[in-house]
Amino acid sequence: MRQDRIPVLTWHGYNVFGNTYETNDLVAFADDLVTISEAGFEIVPLVEVARWVRGEREGFGVHGKPVVALSCDDGTDFDWRDLPHPEHGAQKSFSTSLREFTASGRFAQLTSFVIAAPSARAQIAHGAMQAQRALNDDWWHDANASGLITIESHGWDHNHPAVSPVIQRAQQTGDFFAINTFVECDTHVRAAANFIESRSGRRPHLFAYPWTQASDYMRFEYMPQHAEAHGTIAAFGGPSGYVTLDSDRWLLSRFVFGPDWRSKDGLLKILRGSLTA
Ligand SMILES: [Zn+2]
Repeated sequence: MRQDRIPVLTWHGYNVFGNTYETNDLVAFADDLVTISEAGFEIVPLVEVARWVRGEREGFGVHGKPVVALSCDDGTDFDWRDLPHPEHGAQKSFSTSLREFTASGRFAQLTSFVIAAPSARAQIAHGAMQAQRALNDDWWHDANASGLITIESHGWDHNHPAVSPVIQRAQQTGDFFAINTFVECDTHVRAAANFIESRSGRRPHLFAYPWTQASDYMRFEYMPQHAEAHGTIAAFGGPSGYVTLDSDRWLLSRFVFGPDWRSKDGLLKILRGSLTA
């Protein structure tokens, strides 16, 4: 059994529409950890997948096991804290599920892509998240220190329609392809990394494009040409799929809970699809 392509899985902690697997990313995440383990896969830090693509490390499978990496987007407090949902009651955070999973000695780590700007987070929390005030940064430091969740960058303001003003020069929101000048890209990548570092105690090395969208300027010019200044080593976006040695380090694919799988069988299909007989 060979693994020359690696699945990177993604959940969204605020996607709580009920308390069943299909309707709740937090419930799904807890179950999916068990499925991953039962399927014989080992969880590796996402940054190690990026280093593999960059040729900075050997392949995986030291113990002969295939690997998978885990991520979550937007950095809501549901990533870290067990919170009551206004409609669906008590929720178990990603971090609690990780703690339970690793209690038996198994390794797990989740990479959380957070939105940098405090004012943008406040506006999104108010305008798009039922005013739950669940986009705080006071847990980022503890998360990084825990080793269970690492904090990486999802840009400055998500170019989100609930945010005003946004960095985009014509105030064209809801579309990350519209981020395509040096100033816009530099604010979303370098300035966001500076801010996240100041709050989390560690500089982000990875970036996830909002809505998976990267303009040609962002992907082919800004990211590679200014890598030393912004400190990012790889970025995630584009169509769903596996990461391979042929992947573009500035547009690495992932799979997203919901669109790409919504059952145990669906997840098993993605995991097994990474193996070559
Ligand atoms: Zn997002």
